[in-house]
Amino acid sequence: MKWVFLGPPGAGKGTQAKRVAAEFDVAHVSTGDLLRSEVAAKSELGKAAESFMTGGGLVPDDLVIAMVAQKLDDLNAYLLDGFPRTLPQAQALLERVGDGAIDRVFSFELPDDEVLRRLGGRRTCRDCGTMYHVDFVPPQVEGKCDRCGGELFRRDDDEADAIRRRIDVFKSEAGPLIDFYGADVVTVDASRSPDEVFAEVRSYAQG
Ligand code: AMP
Repeated sequence: MKWVFLGPPGAGKGTQAKRVAAEFDVAHVSTGDLLRSEVAAKSELGKAAESFMTGGGLVPDDLVIAMVAQKLDDLNAYLLDGFPRTLPQAQALLERVGDGAIDRVFSFELPDDEVLRRLGGRRTCRDCGTMYHVDFVPPQVEGKCDRCGGELFRRDDDEADAIRRRIDVFKSEAGPLIDFYGADVVTVDASRSPDEVFAEVRSYAQG
């Protein structure tokens, strides 16, 4: 299984990728998560990436491509979540894995107002990464993770201006990417519940 998940921020790519990865025992490669770990570790890459991420822009292609290439070398099966995000990234991936190696490309579709609603209320546990939403999936105790009691925080790039920037960036990059993958792209209506989306996505693993 080598799958790519495309879609705007907040469309649930990460949630779905985690579920598919757990069910089929494949690696979930999220460039957003990898970059956030680099930032937390204050590595050279993290320091270079941080300002782009905070403002809601994209980290330069060469940095992201080098980071992913290292990771993919060790894996036979994976779900790519948040990569490729640009045409040069898609071309670099193709060169690395070869023609026909990616067996599914999903495009998660979600209207802008729903992206704003989902990300504006999103909170994440600082310790275990569990995600909440102030309206849709509130924690039992405000500001505390149900699972581990960790502190819930709002990502810098989930502030309103950064969300709008991320939507704009996504829109300018998405068209060329969808064209690049052409007929291979499976469109997913991401406005449905996570269970409904998962039922559809997992059906492609058997098909
Ligand atoms: P995400 O968690 O996928 O929403 O990613 C968070 C942030 O990390 C993005 O807004 C970008 O700044 C950066 N990022 C993640 N993946 C990529 C990528 N493939 N190319 C460039 N920047 C990325």
